[in-house]
Amino acid sequence: MRRVLTAAIAALTVTTAGAVAAGAPGHAAARSGWGRPVVAPAAPGPGSPGLGDSYFPDYGNGGYDVDHYDIRLRYEPATDQLSGTTTILARATQDLSRFNLDFLLGVQSVKVNGWTAAFAREGVHELAITAPRPIVAGQSLTIVVTYAGVPSQTRVNGYTSWTRTADGALAVNEPESAWWWYPSNDHPLDKATWDVSVSVPTGVEVISNGVQPRPPLAESGNRTRWGWRSAIPGATYLAFLAIGQYDIVTDTAPSGQPVVNAYSTTLGTLRPAARASIERTAEIVDWGSGIFGPYPFEAQGGVAGPIDGIGFALETQTRSVYGPGFWRRGSNTYVVVHENAHQWFGNSVSVTDWSDIWLNEGFASYAEWLWSEEQGEGTAQEVFDFTYASYPADDQFWQVLPGDPGPDDVFDDAVYDRGAMTLHQLRLAVGDEAFFRILPAWTAAHRHGNGTIEQFQALAEQISGKDLDALFTTWLFTKGRPELPGASAARAAAPAEPKSWAKIREAHAH
Ligand SMILES: [Zn+2]
Repeated sequence: MRRVLTAAIAALTVTTAGAVAAGAPGHAAARSGWGRPVVAPAAPGPGSPGLGDSYFPDYGNGGYDVDHYDIRLRYEPATDQLSGTTTILARATQDLSRFNLDFLLGVQSVKVNGWTAAFAREGVHELAITAPRPIVAGQSLTIVVTYAGVPSQTRVNGYTSWTRTADGALAVNEPESAWWWYPSNDHPLDKATWDVSVSVPTGVEVISNGVQPRPPLAESGNRTRWGWRSAIPGATYLAFLAIGQYDIVTDTAPSGQPVVNAYSTTLGTLRPAARASIERTAEIVDWGSGIFGPYPFEAQGGVAGPIDGIGFALETQTRSVYGPGFWRRGSNTYVVVHENAHQWFGNSVSVTDWSDIWLNEGFASYAEWLWSEEQGEGTAQEVFDFTYASYPADDQFWQVLPGDPGPDDVFDDAVYDRGAMTLHQLRLAVGDEAFFRILPAWTAAHRHGNGTIEQFQALAEQISGKDLDALFTTWLFTKGRPELPGASAARAAAPAEPKSWAKIREAHAH
């Protein structure tokens, strides 16, 4: 939900952007003709060190596609020492002489299909692996990376996404999170399933995504190994770890799905408000299913993080993680609505390029407005009017484009608030009947995949039968506060504060 890496890292990624083009293999010509090479077949080339994302060109890697991560770790809360082995099951998408993973911790060894592979660190977060034997397109790859490090002290420009706490740690961030705990193809374009198991001193809890395929196992040395499984493919940044002292509450949702909620024992007087919010997850998921389409994952839940943990919330797959700040003024279901709406918008339907971030944050924010309407705490129109009026025309807010905010403003308020305003304008333009057909059609069309803003506009136009180009251009891609038609402008000029407003503001606080 909140990207907190400094601008400096964006500058660094720019310096490696040229390598994407330079590393692109050019052997397409060798494959032309009637199945017979017209020139000598090109030698296998390197996989590109990025996937060409317009904001973060070196995030992710080319040349292969991951099916599954098996992440097997050992963690020492007392020292923040993390060690382990990640086994990556992948398939080559081109002939490869070498390929990259995204990772920061110290690597001890890499094996590819059982062969020891040479490796080197490159750029900010690239682990470059030389194929021990040539890899051909379509070949299955089993990549085993053994590593160790202290993630809280492993910093990029002074920054770490790994939050060490008094009793453990949190691996929760967006879009940079995996670099500090498992090697990956770190871009939402390459979704995979994952198993994670972590050995910790007995008495420490480990919470992660999905379901527990077995109870925690006792190990020698007074240790316990926890295991979690995500059997539905997800983006790498949506995997998380919460390690520390937690009370775990399990239940079954009305839908029959497992619910796993967890509450840090450090929350003290905030704990009842956290419970009063997160324990409504199953109800909120049920409500969302009626509007957005079938819930896309295999489990539900939330984690109330510790008092000294993160200052934001993140929609980690099947189980969002919330910082303690959301509970300081009482319960807040709006943040639970926001993060769970992301299970459809962001997690199941993920960005194709990080410039598509409106597809995540605009929709999750608008879900809060719909919840306000449902709860009788202000209609979406009333929240729109108040939001519109809260940003004067000369406010810098109107200078950030939700449809293309730039790499430093991916999580700017404009992406959230103007993003939600855009969806409300769409609803007004096409009418409720079409609008509430567009939302589930979108989540069905790109379920467990990726989408672009252009594709969403095309779908909305197809379902509504309307040309929406002016609306999208005005609200997503034009600087300045859009004018409202006369009657709407008059209403927005002196709006009443909706009852939900304070909670919606808090849900965006960090
Ligand atoms: Zn969000």
